[in-house]
Amino acid sequence: MRSPVQQYLDDVHAGLVDELGGSTKSKNPELAQADPMMFGMAITTADGYTYASGDADVPFSIQSISKVFGYALALQDRGFVYMDERIDVEPSGDPFNEISLDAETGKPKNPLINAGAIAATAQIRSTTKKSAFDRILEVCSAAAGRELELNQKVYEYDRDTGKRNRALAWLLASSEIIEGDPIQAFDDYSRQCSISVTTKDLSVMAATLANLGTNPITGQDVFDTEVVQRVLSVMLTCGMYDDSGDWVSTVGLPAKSGVGGGILGALPGQLGLASFSPPLDQHGSSVRGLRAYKQISTDLELHFVRTS
Ligand code: GLN
Repeated sequence: MRSPVQQYLDDVHAGLVDELGGSTKSKNPELAQADPMMFGMAITTADGYTYASGDADVPFSIQSISKVFGYALALQDRGFVYMDERIDVEPSGDPFNEISLDAETGKPKNPLINAGAIAATAQIRSTTKKSAFDRILEVCSAAAGRELELNQKVYEYDRDTGKRNRALAWLLASSEIIEGDPIQAFDDYSRQCSISVTTKDLSVMAATLANLGTNPITGQDVFDTEVVQRVLSVMLTCGMYDDSGDWVSTVGLPAKSGVGGGILGALPGQLGLASFSPPLDQHGSSVRGLRAYKQISTDLELHFVRTS
């Protein structure tokens, strides 16, 4: 017999398969090829149970959701004072790829827009054995509870065409937010966006955040509690870019979307959520995903302001 949670998830999924809004017109041919009918949803509870519905095992590109994990790793490596001197935590109200730097200091507004994410990735420590990207991949894998991989084609396309992100990396170097090689930071960022995940992976990654840094399935401690508190706060205010205000009002959960079609959401102490559906709205967020979150948040009363 299906559990009530499984049944509920299947019902939400079935109710949204006819939602045909949004576009898959990505500049990246690998993303543009995504089947617009693909639709996966998953929930992993903070005590480690996963419920999945639809295309929850289909791999897709993590894209901007990786920014959460890159920032968390940089915070672990460098601490709050160091990171706060370089990246603010203010909502920008700007699109994700905006040249959103403070006029005087050159600081990015927050770590979840491209400028701030490239700046954060640049702070991740590397060793002779492990590059910064190796460490991001390792941390994403630890949060997902399995070894994740890079999608080489997505990466090569982003690397070869990402002129705006390259420009951002150079701008950050000009204001000394990036002290090392800006092209290395750009390259690491392009790679982190090209990590392949499934909806189930994403829900476990979300549950690791909801469980304050410990993967609830493997028991591995991935992030310190204070780092998770900071990251979830920034997700709540900045995770959906120039749609963040509407998101906080209607869904009220820390979340992060990516142009690969994924949305990760976390309810601290309770559960991690994930959705995957490629057609995107004008902000770069999955249309079906947004609807799924709105419905689940309302039905299960997940909004951080409780009304009953
Ligand atoms: N790789 C994309 C970029 O940097 C990620 C954008 C996103 O998912 N919003 O432009």
